[in-house]
Amino acid sequence: MKKRENFLSYGKQSVDEMDIAAVVETLQSPFLTQGPRVEEFEHAVANYVGAKYAVAFANGTAALHGACYAAGIGEGDEVITTPITFAATSNAVLYCGGTPIFADIDENTYNLDPHEVRKKITSKTKAIMPVDFTGQPVELDLFMDIAEENELVIIEDGAHSLGASYKGCRVGSQAQMTMFSFHPVKPITTGEGGIITTNSEVYYEKLKLFRSHGISKTPYSMEQGDWYYEMTELGFNYRMNDIQAALGLSQLNKLNQFVERRREIAGLYNEKLANISGIILPKQLEDTESGWHLYMIQLDEQIVCKSRRQVFDEMRNANIGVHVHYIPVYWHPYYRDLGYEKGQCPVAEELYERALTLPVFPEMTEVDVEFVVCALKQAIT
Ligand SMILES: *Cc1c(COP(=O)(O)O)cnc(C)c1O
Repeated sequence: MKKRENFLSYGKQSVDEMDIAAVVETLQSPFLTQGPRVEEFEHAVANYVGAKYAVAFANGTAALHGACYAAGIGEGDEVITTPITFAATSNAVLYCGGTPIFADIDENTYNLDPHEVRKKITSKTKAIMPVDFTGQPVELDLFMDIAEENELVIIEDGAHSLGASYKGCRVGSQAQMTMFSFHPVKPITTGEGGIITTNSEVYYEKLKLFRSHGISKTPYSMEQGDWYYEMTELGFNYRMNDIQAALGLSQLNKLNQFVERRREIAGLYNEKLANISGIILPKQLEDTESGWHLYMIQLDEQIVCKSRRQVFDEMRNANIGVHVHYIPVYWHPYYRDLGYEKGQCPVAEELYERALTLPVFPEMTEVDVEFVVCALKQAIT
């Protein structure tokens, strides 16, 4: 098979001269840590998604930790989530002493299945953490109904879905709290970075306290003098800095362009891979508009007569950075040691066996897409 000269990774940031200038400008300013850019970035993200508040964090994982804390997750509380996600989602529940409960996914969207979630609700359930896997928003209305009936909090993991929308609303405006990640492969980047958007002032205040040691200026401390502050909660140093936020602000200006380009690339794959037997293309719900963080196909090994491993290796040998998202979280040794057993989410496990992620990122060209498609066709025959 023909090999590419350079490695085509499955995802990659786009950083241009404007981004670099924005970072340099901050480096020359008096503020490197928490200065004006962080707040500006928070307002800009909140505005973009249509939420009242946003609180920026050092990374998406810290942001999820903050959201679980703000939701009051603790010892004995159960939080229902999907096994087809990055481990950080359920790890955040463990950080707070809670118990992640895995419910199976929908075989068409690969997202957490609301019917499966209902089956897992107990008197200990406190929250649901659905993940907009690959950038396709979850059916939030269905989760909101479940949450309302059972007095649960929804923490949406939107690490893949900044710029995506559900029923005409951007992700981040509806769930009680939504997390976005700004890791370089995600829709926009700040290097490392994350944010929670919310419409709740109560969560907003808790999140701010949590990311900064649990320290704030209270009315009492104001009386004591300008040096005085109070630590009222056991928080962390989870702050985003002004250098990251300056990059984020510059990147945010290009988000719509990035998402548009991802949609074009997904469209090209859909077209060029249509009607190839043995390849199952990603399905989209009518009322969602994906941000196409990932373009994931399934291989039907019976039809293509090659194992996923063989196809994966052949693509990698051609210098194409295919990937597999994700190993079901409860398969990891750490979770197995906690007592989670294989076999509990059969749809997720079957997806994992057949999944193959193809490269998508804004700077990918039509020639790159054609190369991937040709290589894939060769690899499966
Ligand atoms: C990237 C990612 C995270 C964690 O974000 P970081 O910014 O890398 O900490 C959480 N959940 C999902 C689904 C992710 O893809």
